Amino acid sequence: MPKPVRCPACSCEVSRIDIRPRGFTCPHCKQVLKVDAHYAHPLAIMSLMFGTFLSYLLGFSGVWFILYMLLVGAAIFLVAALVNRWFFLKLARDNSALEFRITGPRDGQVKQ
Ligand SMILES: [Zn+2]
Repeated sequence: MPKPVRCPACSCEVSRIDIRPRGFTCPHCKQVLKVDAHYAHPLAIMSLMFGTFLSYLLGFSGVWFILYMLLVGAAIFLVAALVNRWFFLKLARDNSALEFRITGPRDGQVKQ
């Protein structure tokens, strides 16, 4: 069972149905949230290292070595990212949306 996802602002449980990859508001406190993607960078490096190791083990060389390394690395990264998202999903406050609220929409001078 994946552990419950909590809002970083009000620490209420947020249903996975409400979570949108491009930002959403907390159903309890209306804080604008986004999925915390900080896990992606070390995961990408580890996947690429594992891809390199695997293509070395299988005896590839030259262009095939690099192709296989990238292909396996990308495949491992996708699977690991999905698993990570499902089991260790973390939310963060979306500051870009806050900035948008302060400055207002770009075409805010329409009404006179
Ligand atoms: Zn909240």
